[in-house]
Amino acid sequence: MKGLKFAVAAVALSLITIGTSGSIVFAEDIKTELTQVATQLETVSKTAEETNQQLAQQVSTQEKLNIEISFYDQHTRELTEAVTLVKTKMDLLDHGPKAVAPIQAMYLILADKYLEVDSLDLEKAVNGDLDTFRPYYENFLRSEDKATIKEALEAHLSSLTAEIAVSETGRTEAKLALVEVSSSIEQLSGQAAEVNGQVQLLAQEKQSIESEIKAKEAEEKKANSFIKPTSGRITSPFGNRKHPITRRITFHEGIDIANSAGTRILASRTGKVTFAGYQSGLGKVIKISHGGGIETVYAHLSAIQVSVGQSVTQGQQIGKMGSTGRSTGPHLHFEIRINGTPVNPSKYI
Ligand SMILES: [Zn+2]
Repeated sequence: MKGLKFAVAAVALSLITIGTSGSIVFAEDIKTELTQVATQLETVSKTAEETNQQLAQQVSTQEKLNIEISFYDQHTRELTEAVTLVKTKMDLLDHGPKAVAPIQAMYLILADKYLEVDSLDLEKAVNGDLDTFRPYYENFLRSEDKATIKEALEAHLSSLTAEIAVSETGRTEAKLALVEVSSSIEQLSGQAAEVNGQVQLLAQEKQSIESEIKAKEAEEKKANSFIKPTSGRITSPFGNRKHPITRRITFHEGIDIANSAGTRILASRTGKVTFAGYQSGLGKVIKISHGGGIETVYAHLSAIQVSVGQSVTQGQQIGKMGSTGRSTGPHLHFEIRINGTPVNPSKYI
């Protein structure tokens, strides 16, 4: 289990380390970590499940043993009561009815079935009609062979004593088993707590890595997408059109988005500024490189708010709409170029 803790610590440490590394590498590394943590979680969960199952079994055995012990206790108690009864009968046999209360003596005789009485006699005895019952009792003592009765009582006593011994042995064995089970429960409880804790830790770790991946993927998606760089309506689409100034059919390498002068111009995608200045025709223009041969162009600006070499993130304000260069009114001329070739921005924003 110690190895696991180290592994968890290693995962936590690697998270910190890769947090500072490159984006795609980061995603690959963190996905490997996720697989590792998920595998560990699966293994530890299985161990936890087994441990919890064992613990539940032992607890169930403990309950059964406690019931068994109380059963033995009850059985021994009943046997001891039976012994007392037999001894009382023996006392009665040796010393006559004066040794015990007469009504008790009657019950003892009836219960022992040494004397057959009809239901009327029994009723009389129960009703406490002692005088009516007495002749039967005295007759019994006279007519029966005391020695035979005593022998039978002694045999009964000895059988009861043996049964008590069996019951007590059973109880002792159950007690010993209980001690063992209790110790096992204690040990398993400790193990279960540890392993359940590890499951929780790994589950948290897994969740944290998953959130990290999700955030990273969202970030990457953002980095690989374009947004509309300003608000306004598209007044001139991409492709062949009649030029508003020359009136000749020319190829429009971007789209024009018109709005009032000063409208915020945003970086369409995360990247690095490669040009920020004046060019004839385009006026005040910003060019941003996004890697992989992808470039965006923002022309006719009234203000440039970034400089060459600056890193910009998608949605960041880079300038303001204007009408500089060859322009008929405030608008943004926006281009997306892939390896220098203009593509239709409307397909990307
Ligand atoms: Zn244009």
